[in-house]
Formats: sequence, structure tokens, C-alpha cells
Amino acid sequence: MTSNSESLEKYRMHIAGEWAEPASGDYLESFNPFTAKPWALIPRGNAEDADRAVEAAHGAAFNGEGAAMTATQRGHMIRKLADILVEEAERLAEIEVRDNGKLIAEMGGQTRYLPQWYYYYAGLADKIEGSVIPIDKPGHFNYTKWEPLGVVACIVPWNSPLLLLAWKLAPLLAAGNTAVIKPSEFTSASTLEFMKCVEKAGFPAGVINVVTGFGAEVGGPLVDHPKVAKVAFTGSDTTGRAIYQQAAKGLKKASMELGGKSPNIVFADAHIENAVKGAISGIFAATGQTCIAGSRLLVQESIHDEFVDKLVALGGQARMGNPMSLDTQVGPVTNVPQFEKILKYIDVARQEGAEAVLGGAKAQRPECGNGWFVEPTIFTGVRNDMRIAQEEVFGPVLSVIPFKDDEEAVAIGNDIVFGLAAGVWTQNIGRALTMADKLQAGTVWVNTYRAVSYMSPFGGYKQSGLGRESGQEMIKEYLQMKSVWIETSNAEAPNPFVMR
Ligand code: NAD
Repeated sequence: MTSNSESLEKYRMHIAGEWAEPASGDYLESFNPFTAKPWALIPRGNAEDADRAVEAAHGAAFNGEGAAMTATQRGHMIRKLADILVEEAERLAEIEVRDNGKLIAEMGGQTRYLPQWYYYYAGLADKIEGSVIPIDKPGHFNYTKWEPLGVVACIVPWNSPLLLLAWKLAPLLAAGNTAVIKPSEFTSASTLEFMKCVEKAGFPAGVINVVTGFGAEVGGPLVDHPKVAKVAFTGSDTTGRAIYQQAAKGLKKASMELGGKSPNIVFADAHIENAVKGAISGIFAATGQTCIAGSRLLVQESIHDEFVDKLVALGGQARMGNPMSLDTQVGPVTNVPQFEKILKYIDVARQEGAEAVLGGAKAQRPECGNGWFVEPTIFTGVRNDMRIAQEEVFGPVLSVIPFKDDEEAVAIGNDIVFGLAAGVWTQNIGRALTMADKLQAGTVWVNTYRAVSYMSPFGGYKQSGLGRESGQEMIKEYLQMKSVWIETSNAEAPNPFVMR
């Protein structure tokens, strides 16, 4: 903690309907990536706090006011939360910018849009129906019903805290579960601000809890806790793999939204100007700190050089600087470890023989001040087997890889352990459909990039994850099905030693 810690905004966690100090009494500093200075203190929770939160959530899921709510009442409460989020959108956007370095130009729209996840699932809350089975056993009535799982631990990364939380929280609440949220230790402030909205909406105590702190000190105990029924995780593949193994010990359900190294594929027959913008948006938006970054740009050989020139021209004009300024286009990297990781990958790319035709270094523009900025970077001469093409950088670093024809585009596109998303730029509808079929990715965009909606399922193929978020179907990931049998004939029970 620094000497000026008294002037920092001091947050508390939210457990069992109350603002809570951490059991340890310790706090972590949260930094503003633009000034590189701490601005807030975040409670350093531990296993004791995690246990209190899970007990509260478990009580709310199975007893008391939370458990007694009808599905319609749940829907109303989630809708009320959404209304409050709409009113608070601007304030929440500013917190994300300050804590995360996100651009206000993007966050303004994002915090206004994210209540839609709550509205959508609020509407679904009382439309979760089981069925009556025309059962083949005479004298029996059989029906199914969907029931909540109980307590869901939501473990969230730093890159889009409130949006990625909405993807989990809205459906899990609609399904009748309760939550313990563990935001990233780098960006917890917006989730704690969000809890003020939850309080205003009037959710019963224990339905939504937040415990802040480190992965090993809070996340681990949550995953291990016997009263947690499901772990809903978004983060890196390395952490996801560890959590999945940990969850397996307790046979817990788990959904995993992990990393990506998405191919963004430009054919010679594309609308070139739009494809250039799509490639730029795919890698430099959100400073490349997005799981869906189109970080492998596959360009058809015949247009490669001309396309790279256009990319360099547009990327080279990107305005960097204060993320609170509406004209800033590339903001800072969110935290120091990530900043260092990106610079290390730039070195790796050079050592592998790739050529930086744009950027390739820490940004030292006066408008970047002391912030953690990396110049928008484009590498050419990349082969798909290089580390820079295979590993997730999670920063504004693009690898351009040439390809000859459709077959080679598919082969390179799929030659990766990840499968989160893919982009295709072509004006040939047959080619677009064939590529959409052949690319191994949970989302394929044709002539667009980074489009997401509460209505459309999102998730990964291969090592990009398990399960889906958004859309109607996925609410079932927070439900379990029960089959109920009733004997209706009142006939004398048959031989008890054989199956009915
Ligand atoms: P991370 O995996 O380091 O951390 C994610 C969360 O897990 C944090 O809250 C962290 O504290 C917690 N954690 C860490 N170790 C843990 C442990 N042992 N047990 C329990 N919890 C633990 O990820 P990050 O660096 O915060 O985020 C960036 C990553 O997230 C990137 O790989 C990115 O691709 C991925 N991501 C995926 C999606 C998606 O929807 N697929 C969306 C956004 C980000």
C-alpha cells in the first residue's frame, strides 16, 4: 500500500446482503492504467470470506426470501436491476475507464447495452417449462421440471468485467440460482459499484455476493467449496484448465470461456476498404485485450502487399492517449504484467524472423503520459507455426499470414488449439457459407467482426472453452432436469424384487 492510501477510494465486498471488510483486514491497490497510479483500495478476501459468501448464497438458494420467490417475481427483480443499470450506465462506464483503461468511446455504448442481458433473461425467467411424458408404463404419470443448480461461482477476468459478468449473472439468476462473484484482482471496482445497483433493486440477502482478491486466495476456495454447484469461468486457458481439474474433484459443473487466436481471413474478392477496417477493429479495438481478437490476419497472396499497405496506413493513424477522451482510439494496457507480456511477445516475434511493419514497441507519445501503452503493431512474414501465430498475446499485435486459396485458408485457420471465433471477408456467398461450415470456431463473422448480442450463443470450440453464453438455449446450463413419477392406478403393488 502506498503512502497516499488515505486519499484512495476504499471499497468493501458484499456478502450476505451487507458491505463487508475482508477477514484479513488487507487491501489491494487498484491502478488507473492511464496514470499508472493507484486510485482505489480493494479488499483482499480469503478462504474465510469465500466460505461466508457461499454459505449466504446457499441459504438464499435453498431457504428464505430468495428461494421463496416465484419465477415471475425473479423476472421482475432482474428487470428492475436492468432499469437501474440503464440509469447508472454513464457512471459505470467511467469506472471501467478509470480502473481498466477501456475507452469511454466504447464503454459508453457497452454499459448502455449490457442491461439488455438482464432484460432478456428477466423475460425468460418464467418461461422455463418442463413437459409431460406420454409414458409407456401403465398406471404412471411422468413429468419433467427444470430446477436451479444452487450456488454458482462466477470467476471473471479483467478485460470486460461488467459485460462478462452479465453473460453469467443474468441467466443464472433467471434460472433461480444464487451467485458468488470473484472479479479479477486487477479490476474489481466496477463489480463493487454494480453491487450498489443490486442493493437498490432489492435482491434478497445472499442472492448475489462479491468476494474480491487473488485467484489462489478466493477463486481456489470457491472452486473447492462443497456447496458450490457450478463454476462459471471466463479467463485464460491456463487458469481454465487448472480450475476445470479442481472442479472435477468435486464433480462440479463448469463452463469455461477461454482464450482465442482467431483467424480473420481476407479473400481477394472482398470489399477491401471494409476488410481493412474489419482487420483493424479485430486487433486494435480494446487495445487487442479481447478474447475474440482477430490476431491472425490471413490475407490472400494476390492482394497481400496492397492490403498490408492499407492496414499500415489506417493503423498508423490510430490516436492514442487518455481513454476518457472521446477521440482516443487505442487506450492503455490494463495492467503491468499484461503490458510486459505484450512487449515480450513483440521480442519473440522478431526473434522468430517476423518483421514489424507498424509499431513494435512501447508507445512513447507525449499524449500517453506515464500510462502502459503499446504501439499498434503489425507483423508480416509470419508463419502459422511461429509462437506469435499460435499463442494468445492479448494485446494490439497483429500477425499477417499469406494464403493461396480456400483450402489453404481453412487449413491455416484451423491449425491452432483454439476455436473461439473467425472472420471471413468475401463477396462470394458460396465461399462465405463454405468457410462458415469449415472453420472450427464457435462464432464465424462474415464481412463483419466483433458483433455480439444477448440473443446469440457465444463460446468456444476446441480449447477455447466449454459451454455457451447468451441466447435462449444456454439458460439450461444453469438448470438441471428432474423426472417425477407418480403411480395413478392405486392398484396393488407388483413384485417388489423386479424393476417396474
Ligand atoms: P486469468 O485466467 O488470469 O484470470 C481470470 C480470473 O480467474 C481472475 O478473476 C483470476 O483472479 C482468477 N483466477 C486465477 N487463478 C485462479 C485459480 N487458481 N483458481 C480460481 N480462480 C483463479 O485471465 P485474465 O488474465 O484475467 O483474462 C484474460 C484472459 O481471459 C484471456 O486469455 C482471454 O482470452 C480470456 N477471456 C475469454 C473470454 C471468452 O469469453 N472466451 C472473454 C474475455 C477474456
